Amino acid sequence: MLETFIGGYLFHPAALDYSGPTCTNGCVYCFANINKSERKASLKQAITCLYKKEATTYRDLLVKLGYPICVSNRSDPFSRNNARETAQLFSCLSEFSNGIFIQTKCGPGMDEAIVALNGKSNVVWYITVTTMRDDLSKQIEPFAPASSERLAWAKKLHDMGYLVVIAVNPCTDIWMPMSDLQDLMRYMKGAGLNHLVVEMLDLKAKRVQKMSERTKANIGNAAIDSCLSGRCRLYVRECMDEIHGSGLALAKKGMPYRSEFFNDLKRVLGVTMPVFQDFIHYCFDRYATGGPITFDEFASVITDDRIFKMTVRQNNIRDYLLRAGFLSWKDNQQVHTHRDLLRIIWNDSRHRLSIHNHCLIRSTNRQDPEGNAILWFTATPIFDKKRKEVMQL
Ligand code: SF4
Repeated sequence: MLETFIGGYLFHPAALDYSGPTCTNGCVYCFANINKSERKASLKQAITCLYKKEATTYRDLLVKLGYPICVSNRSDPFSRNNARETAQLFSCLSEFSNGIFIQTKCGPGMDEAIVALNGKSNVVWYITVTTMRDDLSKQIEPFAPASSERLAWAKKLHDMGYLVVIAVNPCTDIWMPMSDLQDLMRYMKGAGLNHLVVEMLDLKAKRVQKMSERTKANIGNAAIDSCLSGRCRLYVRECMDEIHGSGLALAKKGMPYRSEFFNDLKRVLGVTMPVFQDFIHYCFDRYATGGPITFDEFASVITDDRIFKMTVRQNNIRDYLLRAGFLSWKDNQQVHTHRDLLRIIWNDSRHRLSIHNHCLIRSTNRQDPEGNAILWFTATPIFDKKRKEVMQL
């Protein structure tokens, strides 16, 4: 199905997602498969949406305005069951200006899909590599190509002129220990690859409780323990520092650095969704050593785009809220513009997307004349939420 990519709000350059049916790669940590073990998709529906003459929904509008399409967030476009339809989809997408952000572990049908793209150049490949050890990748991602094959594909795609992102996502100290991450970075530099994502394996106790014994055994006690004890979170922070220090362009949610990562993606994809990182860059430029920041500054950086300025009827904007937290969704029944949504993200610290969660942002005791919080850009990260007391201005 071609859908609005709600989960990528302010973190992902794509505004839309096409996910095929249930992915057959069988990754043990797959939240899409764990959350819903049977998923159907309609390529016909996606193609109909693309060729629609009039934009009647928010999704249609995003298509018409040329926003990139992520293929795919909930299914691998090159898992055995999806490869054929992916080539058909790419053949259609080659006729549109929308960029394509391909998220994959590689697989059969890639050569055909590249032919179907017909020279389209606003394409980014995002290749997941969770471990450098082929035997382990076969254990945790049993039906996907081994890590070494994915890395070979990454080099090949780079040599063909594509921007290729390597994603250690999800990352744990068990699957990708530091020496392996360093090997990966060496490989990337040797191959000319420059873009690396790291995100932790996010297993919460509640989710683990609901898992079958088989799933738990597949993930492994060591990886589960690393997540539940908080060690994984600290380790991924170490990885973040290591990657940043290596000079590679890093992307990690909430990272406390400048990074050319999203600017490079924008150069390739053309129009993209704004990301938090745009505002972090603004803060570094404006308040190098820290300073008070206002909602108006945030909104003017993020909303520099038509879609962010218009009123969108239906429930589309509220869907972003619902995805990020029921409480803030319940309290905000009438949200029809991105600016309204940004105001909630700015003011409401309960929201999962809340800017208050960023390690460079602190709350203060002040508000602007419209009642929006005045926040503080610290320039020096504070990761421990307990140490982020409200600043008295
Ligand atoms: S490739 Fe992605 S969608 Fe497919 S099983 Fe693995 S994590 Fe899930």
